[in-house]
Amino acid sequence: MSEDLHPIARLPEDWAKEMPKLGGRAFNASQVFRWVHARGVTNPHLMSDLSLAMRTKLTESGMGSVAEVASVRQASDGTRKALIKLAGDFNVETVLIPGVGGPRNADAEMDADAAAADDDGEDDEAYDGAERDAATAPRTRISQCISTQVGCAMGCVFCASGVAGLKRHMTASEIVSQVLLGRGLLDDTERLRNVVYMGMGEPLHNYEAVKRSLQLLTHKEGIALPARRITVSTSGLVPEIKRLGEDFKGQIGLAVSLHASDDETRSRMMPINKKYPISELLNAMREYPLPPRRRITIEYTLIHERNDNAMEARKLAHVLKGLKVKINLIPMNPISASGLGPPDDRRVQQFKDVLLNAGYDAFVRRRRGDDVDAACGQLALLGAKPKVRVNRD
Ligand code: SAH
Ligand code: SF4
Repeated sequence: MSEDLHPIARLPEDWAKEMPKLGGRAFNASQVFRWVHARGVTNPHLMSDLSLAMRTKLTESGMGSVAEVASVRQASDGTRKALIKLAGDFNVETVLIPGVGGPRNADAEMDADAAAADDDGEDDEAYDGAERDAATAPRTRISQCISTQVGCAMGCVFCASGVAGLKRHMTASEIVSQVLLGRGLLDDTERLRNVVYMGMGEPLHNYEAVKRSLQLLTHKEGIALPARRITVSTSGLVPEIKRLGEDFKGQIGLAVSLHASDDETRSRMMPINKKYPISELLNAMREYPLPPRRRITIEYTLIHERNDNAMEARKLAHVLKGLKVKINLIPMNPISASGLGPPDDRRVQQFKDVLLNAGYDAFVRRRRGDDVDAACGQLALLGAKPKVRVNRD
């Protein structure tokens, strides 16, 4: 991860190595890490239990914020979309999605909303970092959807990020800063429960930065989000699915954007399929070291007259046979310039019924944050001109 040595991307062990240069002692390493990741403080001058000399050295060594909230828009359903400003005049978006508060009844809802990891029945571990003690009354569970790249190189025809093309990768410090900033937008009645890597960009195309961000988010002295409450969504980069499985022993939730069950249809929608066809992708899913009782989420964006008839649903049921999956159906959110759109509700229901009858758990993901363009695939680059795209059929 040599590309991103920003102080925000350092784990306590990295800080321990830095300490001699900063004139600090071993225990200062975890102090600094906790300021940043448990408390969300990146300005060294606010780190009140550090010596003045050390705060000055931290400032000189580049400690400081790498992202800021430029604006927040709230949708009528409570979903909030924050525009995050990065260095170099780039913007990304992150979305905070409320579930139903309270202990257990929210799971179906969460499934539908955010492809959240399976609930394994365990109670939440401490993951609010320093704020844990304040937790008494049940609070509204928030799922945060984060971005990993400015734009995306994968070019899926139904996606605003793909239409825009890749502008640049995000660094690990930027990826994790979205969560630090997002947490700062929550009020006392809310708490961060899930993080889903489903914003702008293909997370596994920016693997090293994403890996580091996962290490930071799950670190027990920081945000301390349990790995099972994090889901990484991919369009199907086979080698990196394998790496993710190995690096985190299958603990990180995996969502695969399948959208079609034959190579011809899928390649037309998602150019990446020409590199990693469906058979290879299914193998990678089979080999993902899932813990017991966990499943892979299959995302299937339903597009009118492309992949939405009952025959396609039967094909999907067939190719997924034997895999531990649940299926999220997402009626396509319209994006300008694509000419594609969602099927009507009757067809969505029909598609779902075929899957249910074949024995799958299938959910229709309601559109959230619609009135602020915060739904899947609508996270656009403000001010970026979309490339002109010609659909291939
Ligand atoms: N690049 C990753 C993660 C970001 S996209 C991936 O593709 O999985 C998150 C999800 O939104 C993916 O399943 C993607 O296919 C879906 N999506 C993209 N554009 C969409 C649109 N216009 N309507 C509905 N879902 C869309
Ligand atoms: Fe990229 Fe995912 Fe959009 Fe495809 S759907 S262009 S992989 S962000």
